[in-house]
Amino acid sequence: MRLLQRLSEVDGVPGHEDRVRALIASELEGRVDDLETDAMGNLHATVRCGRPGAPQVMVAAHMDEIGFLVRHIDDRGFLRLQRLGGFDPRTLFARQVTVYASLDGSERIGVMNPAGKPIHISTAEERAKVPELDTFYVDLGLDAERVRAGVRIGDMVCLRQPFADLGEVVTGKALDDRAGCWILLRTLGALEDPAVDLHAVFTVQEEVGLRGAQTGAHHVRPDIGIALDTTLAVDTPEIREDLRVTRLGGGTAIKVMDSSTISTRWLVDALVALAERRELPYQLEVLPLGGTDAGAMQRSRDGVPSITISTPSRYVHTVTEMVSKRDLEAGAALLTAFLQEGPPAER
Ligand SMILES: [Zn+2]
Repeated sequence: MRLLQRLSEVDGVPGHEDRVRALIASELEGRVDDLETDAMGNLHATVRCGRPGAPQVMVAAHMDEIGFLVRHIDDRGFLRLQRLGGFDPRTLFARQVTVYASLDGSERIGVMNPAGKPIHISTAEERAKVPELDTFYVDLGLDAERVRAGVRIGDMVCLRQPFADLGEVVTGKALDDRAGCWILLRTLGALEDPAVDLHAVFTVQEEVGLRGAQTGAHHVRPDIGIALDTTLAVDTPEIREDLRVTRLGGGTAIKVMDSSTISTRWLVDALVALAERRELPYQLEVLPLGGTDAGAMQRSRDGVPSITISTPSRYVHTVTEMVSKRDLEAGAALLTAFLQEGPPAER
């Protein structure tokens, strides 16, 4: 779990994935047939099986996490933010953040809160209102002159949260989708004698519309696309059982559909059959709202059979995301088995 800790704690919002990419590239250096970064910033790691005519399989895991860019610096030095990705403002009160100040190269700790009165002096009506996302600001504890000497509009702002191993599960920030990056790295490390050519693509800008996977798939021209991502595990108090999507610890999730993709049906059948045969814990997932890189791969070029292998996560898009080690291992085992056996002849 040390690698997952490093993946969780490194920062990279959409378009600013360089630190994540450097960490992943350092894990892969010399261990794959090809390692290159494309113009968008996707990291492509290729493993060839040496069989002529082998299926080309693209497996995508996104490097970016939801976060912010500096949108405005006011005359007292407070920062206003542009969000990148879907935040729930109720999860953003009283947070520490890191501001990557590009003018002086420093990493500055700040605190984030919504504009408005503290509880001691607010009315019941004021307390009941959830503040809009654009009322949140960052306080660096510095005056405007010192802030402006270091921080520029467009600089990256990330939430700070240490990773924690709770035994059966881990919790931390950015597990969406560093959990997917971990599964892909683990698979690359364990893969022996694959039946396909593997194009492992660590993608950029997924959280703002599957942008990296779109150009990545165009370049790779895969025969099959598999996205690795997290999905909702809403198996928490006071939620109706039929709304839970997946259950934490219930196994890797084979996605049937979400709002970006209806998974290619023969791939659903093939992964279910494989999980059954290998006795890997799995669950089927229908997610009413949300998408993955499979959406971009499936619609690339002339269309590509595509699916997502998801890792159930509680508290998605907060800094307390929680995933189960059992589900992570099952996801890596299922992906490895598929790459070793190759797609079934009968589709
Ligand atoms: Zn994701």
